[in-house]
Amino acid sequence: MKFSLAKRLMSVAVHLENVYKIYNNVPVVNDLSFTINAGEMFGLLGPNGAGKSTTIRMLTTLTKPTQGQIEVFGYDVISQPILAKQCLGVVLQQVSVDDDLTVWENMELHGRLHHIANPGRQRLIHQWLEYVELATRRDNLVRTLSGGMKRRLQIARALLHQPQILFLDEPTVGLDPQTRRRLWEMIRDLNKQGMTMLLTTHYMDEVEYLCHRIGIMDGGTLISLGTLQELRSAHGEGLVMKQVGERWEYLFFPTLEDANSYLNQQEDKTGMMVRPSNLEDIFVELTGHKLD
Ligand code: ADP
Repeated sequence: MKFSLAKRLMSVAVHLENVYKIYNNVPVVNDLSFTINAGEMFGLLGPNGAGKSTTIRMLTTLTKPTQGQIEVFGYDVISQPILAKQCLGVVLQQVSVDDDLTVWENMELHGRLHHIANPGRQRLIHQWLEYVELATRRDNLVRTLSGGMKRRLQIARALLHQPQILFLDEPTVGLDPQTRRRLWEMIRDLNKQGMTMLLTTHYMDEVEYLCHRIGIMDGGTLISLGTLQELRSAHGEGLVMKQVGERWEYLFFPTLEDANSYLNQQEDKTGMMVRPSNLEDIFVELTGHKLD
């Protein structure tokens, strides 16, 4: 077995180096390199088509990179896919639980596919259904569950084989605000217990609330990487908003104070306001896209 650099440095959970994915001669992931540390909650942001899902699919062995190296807890996803897969759990955007099976049967199926032997399998199914508050629904058909419950079942199932990292692709899309918040608490709690996580989302508040570090992707590359504070420091902590006709123009300043003194120097302050910058401002500034 190959002992890679990432394996020796056990604090590294995911390592990508010069990764490309090319479809029909077009690189949809284009020379991507970054590292996620063990225990980290990492948020991957980007407009539609940025390459986030393709990246997750490569990280979780569902598709192979055209070029470059990817390691998950030290295992190479191309040459050691089975070992890499044992380390990871995945919750994809499309709800992938089987509607015609019960909650318990869905868990049972996943447990058997992962060769988890009894009595451990029963114990783990019970433990994770309790954790996601679905134990009382164990004998219900999945088709009778709400969207939030199905998402929780997906999470319980992804945790069954005791992975070290969980990949969540837009985990709260389409859920009502209350259900989203409940899921956030669950995700945060899992991370506090030591689970490394990578999540993609379109919701800025989700990233601000949950993620330690944020990677912004556009056109298949990482155009910004850091904590929220680092991104704000890099792009400007103070913002002047200026209404021009129907539109707002945004001017970034290093600090809020700088933004205020700019405003104070203006003779005509009509339609202008100052506020601290947030992640959405930075995202729009960097990608030129509005999130839908
Ligand atoms: P995101 O998740 O950021 O919205 P995706 O990774 O889904 O982005 O897609 C990135 C680009 O790759 C898009 O232009 C998409 O059309 C293209 N793409 C994704 N999967 C395939 C595929 N199997 N064949 C061809 N093109 C694809």
